[in-house]
Amino acid sequence: MRIGVAYYPDYWPEERWPEDARLMRETGIDLVRVGEFAWSRLEPRRGEYDMGWLDRAIGVLAGEGLQVILCTPTAAPPTWLFNRHPTMMPEDQEGKKWFTGSRRHACVNNRPYRRYVRRIVREMARVFGNRPQVFGWQIDNELGCHGSGRCYCGDCEQSFREWLKRRYGTIARLNKLWGTAFWSQEFGDWHLIPAPRRTPAGAHPSLALDYERFTSASYRDFFVEQRELIEEYSGTQKPITTNCMGIGTTQINQFELGSVVEVAAYDNYPIAAERLNDTALQLDLTRSAKGRPFWVLEQQAGTTLIRTNHGQPRPGQLRLWSYQAAARGAELVSYFRWRTCPAGQEMHWYGMLDADGSLKRRYEELKQTVEELKERAHHWEGALPDAKVGLLLDYDCLWGLGAESMGTDLDYLGQFCAFYGLLRRRGLAVDVLMPNRETEGYQLIIAPMQVVGRPRLAQRWEEFVAGGGTLLVTAPAGYRTEHNTWLAKSPPGPYADVLGVEMEEHDTFIGDGGSRVVMGDEEFPVEGYCAIVETKDAEVLAKYGAKFGQHFYSATPAITRRACEQGAAYFLAAVSTTELYDRVVAMALANAGLERHRWSSESVEVIPLRAPGRRSPLTFVLNHAEEPRALAIPNGVTYRDVLTKRDYSGTLPLDEFGVVLLEG
Ligand SMILES: [Zn+2]
Repeated sequence: MRIGVAYYPDYWPEERWPEDARLMRETGIDLVRVGEFAWSRLEPRRGEYDMGWLDRAIGVLAGEGLQVILCTPTAAPPTWLFNRHPTMMPEDQEGKKWFTGSRRHACVNNRPYRRYVRRIVREMARVFGNRPQVFGWQIDNELGCHGSGRCYCGDCEQSFREWLKRRYGTIARLNKLWGTAFWSQEFGDWHLIPAPRRTPAGAHPSLALDYERFTSASYRDFFVEQRELIEEYSGTQKPITTNCMGIGTTQINQFELGSVVEVAAYDNYPIAAERLNDTALQLDLTRSAKGRPFWVLEQQAGTTLIRTNHGQPRPGQLRLWSYQAAARGAELVSYFRWRTCPAGQEMHWYGMLDADGSLKRRYEELKQTVEELKERAHHWEGALPDAKVGLLLDYDCLWGLGAESMGTDLDYLGQFCAFYGLLRRRGLAVDVLMPNRETEGYQLIIAPMQVVGRPRLAQRWEEFVAGGGTLLVTAPAGYRTEHNTWLAKSPPGPYADVLGVEMEEHDTFIGDGGSRVVMGDEEFPVEGYCAIVETKDAEVLAKYGAKFGQHFYSATPAITRRACEQGAAYFLAAVSTTELYDRVVAMALANAGLERHRWSSESVEVIPLRAPGRRSPLTFVLNHAEEPRALAIPNGVTYRDVLTKRDYSGTLPLDEFGVVLLEG
């Protein structure tokens, strides 16, 4: 396990660097992230590069045995560049330009910006590319942060047309696949295609979905261009990555970005215990992006500017969150930042040291944590969460419903997160799957709002269920092609066979329209949408009812189950509340033979590990509550906490914000 920290030598006098480097070594730091945002120091005037100070800083760090993760500074272009090319600023859907004076305010498709990016990156790669002190590279910073992931400027529009040309080949093909005869939107030439700016009745859904894909791909290409420049000088031996936002931005497909990085990386700000599910999900998504250990390039080291009930991490929380990242697969935890900034927009985003350089409570806790992690990591290295459940994240469904939401408020991400939370609360490890991922090794697959009908996915699901797997699909499912148009076959399209249902029609409304899902003597509201289905080869587990009187579809199926060999496919036909999702998840888990962990709860996190070569299973248990817990151990069972080598039977005491790694 490696420990890192972000350091900005450009903010501090050179005479201080040796003291910082010495302290970092004493703290147990291995890797130091440098260079991020330093463009104005690295190229103070157009074409005048000054790599000398960074070279000296790297030398000082190396003198203490520290290597660096060198960052390209492209998230913060200098003021002279904006002055020279004011068109660099992104444009919103109403045609309004952003202004300079911050960060992430250059359009990634802007031609002059890309030219200057290539020059500064090439210069950095030329000077530092083959230095042994450089462990790896971070490209840019938090692509898409601050909601900056979408731009509608002329350069984006032009690049969009070129992207479409490569994708569709001929304009006639595009017109046919998009169905542009609707409202006279046919294009006689590529240059007539607009970016989806503000219009009276919204953008064409096919154009809108492709624009999402195009802008997401723009960030991937932006990354790849920098990566290739670096590799010209450093070869392909050193890891090159970028610090991703996970679902902190829905504007960039994390799997697409994951496909071009050497190691997936994430910036982790758990902030407070009430965000436990969010943090766990982000870490699981980052691990899933490549299916192997990942890096946390920014790990919270103090209070931040993110608003919460209490912003100051309680004593023990910084330690707990570091363990949580490691438990979910982080092989590098790099704290943000070494020393609190003396000025600027983030001067109250605290580092390990205070702004005056003093070492206080946070530093002592983190120093102790680093010592522990380095000493103990051999216990879990090589082990990853033992995920038997796969949760689909299909960006085409997320973006497609965002572009055309069927006249109601279909919250794809909300339902996705709700399912994740229900699994996490039960102590089940989850992999986040892209739609083309194999199902091997999973016992349960959940696909929320799978509105895009994918014949190959349907076939894979049929094989999965026939092979004994359990599948849970929720509506709306199987409506659309990958071009965000109707499928040739009515919903659930290619999923009809595996689910054993056909759809007659659907109902939509804003909020609770009075429809109910009736299961035994319980009722759950339908929220916004429900499919009206007929079963062909499935049993009915719940039916529709109405809040008052009857709907014409009352008593028709709302939840169905198709059994096949040892497996089963569940279909939830309505969008509803987390309480109903909880019931459906319970049924699917029971079918899959997966049990809730007895200790897992809202504040107790249980992470079972798959540890090759070990005789007994390993399980992390983390207490996110500010009070101690006493967890009951079944009679006759003894657990060993391998971190402290203590044995427990009867009761497992867990301190506030405590961590154990149990064997047995
Ligand atoms: Zn743009």
